[in-house]
Amino acid sequence: MPTLDEARRLIFARTRTLGTESVALIDSLNLVTAEDIIAPWDMPSCDNSAMDGFAVRTADCTPVASLRITGLITAGAPSSVPIEPGCAVKIMTGARIPAGADAVVPFEDAEVHGEFVTFNASVERHQHVRLAGSDLRRGEVVIPAGTVIRAPEISMMASSNMSRVTVFRRPTVAILSTGDELVAVGESLAPGKIVDSNGVSLAAMVKECGATVQLLGIARDTVASHIDKMTAGLQADIFITSAGVSVGERDLVRQVLTDLGVSLLFHSIDVRPGGPTTFGVKDNCLIFCLPGNPVASMIIFAKLVKPAILRAMGYRRVLQPVVRAILQEAASKRPGRIKLLRVRLESCGDKLLAFSAGEQTTGMLKTLLRADGLAVLPAERDSFSAGEEVEVHVLSSNVLMQQEEL
Ligand code: AMP
Ligand code: MG
Repeated sequence: MPTLDEARRLIFARTRTLGTESVALIDSLNLVTAEDIIAPWDMPSCDNSAMDGFAVRTADCTPVASLRITGLITAGAPSSVPIEPGCAVKIMTGARIPAGADAVVPFEDAEVHGEFVTFNASVERHQHVRLAGSDLRRGEVVIPAGTVIRAPEISMMASSNMSRVTVFRRPTVAILSTGDELVAVGESLAPGKIVDSNGVSLAAMVKECGATVQLLGIARDTVASHIDKMTAGLQADIFITSAGVSVGERDLVRQVLTDLGVSLLFHSIDVRPGGPTTFGVKDNCLIFCLPGNPVASMIIFAKLVKPAILRAMGYRRVLQPVVRAILQEAASKRPGRIKLLRVRLESCGDKLLAFSAGEQTTGMLKTLLRADGLAVLPAERDSFSAGEEVEVHVLSSNVLMQQEEL
């Protein structure tokens, strides 16, 4: 039985990017570049003013000089006449510096007397001038392939006049719930039935990754129903099932997948919760069979499925952020297996405190509502005392954001 880390390595060894596609720049957010982005020209493309003020020749700017104002250059103006000796030209931020000028004096440092201007500070060559190519040189790689596209990358590509970008394509992730007890959300519930919450919670987590969701609904506990739904699921890039992977009478998932030609690489992992998790491959499809328990399925999604989806999208940083926090209550577990404890995090000065998010049995869904992270209780130990430092894998990046004190 692999440990969680071994399971992840087995999965990663089979997880590849899925080819590339061209998308509109505005649709590229959170995708990963599949090509180097090269600066098409020097940036800025010409010397331009960083301030509203006067373009001048530094040599003319002696303390007693009074320069004649001979014109105005606004941003976007196509060309400008050269500046004559002894003259200054009004210039707006972003406007081209006229030939001959080599500095800009901001309005704040200038005094205008009719057609003339004097300056009350010394003038340095290139002051308030954004020199051509000072940000980037033409031909320079500005965004290497493999970069996650955020707003700054979109800004840079837009500045290069790119309206589309080649990215690794989003995987399609099919999601199937299994079990006779399940009813789709919003349908009427007969006694003994429960709502299929896994279908939508897994879909939400897939969407958070930026992948495309394909909802397959519910397979009933018959071989025919499983075959029907699973045949569709195996067409996706990634296929996630929930429930039916324990040792129950009607747990058909593994058997039917095997009959459909899936090679199972492991069928349980050494972790709690989430032990019965199964992973297999068929052709280019990765198959994750998660336990039915909603808490276990969400935790295993976060630990194993999300990293694989992100890796398929070309991400390199795919593991949850790790913080160290001080356990606020004692905890115990069976030795020999890692336990992931759902904890709430609170900061206290420069320390983080980890409080139990509630009862830790897998049935307790509300505990996960309160959890900011999963404290990792290492396999070899069985008891942990309050005050000990533990590693906590953060579940959502929002947890690390600050709340404004009002
Ligand atoms: P199983 O893995 O089939 O033994 O299911 C374990 C537990 O998870 C049972 O209590 C199921 O009723 C529950 N469960 C299974 N599938 C879902 C689902 N799609 N949504 C919510 N709970 C589920
Ligand atoms: Mg079942």
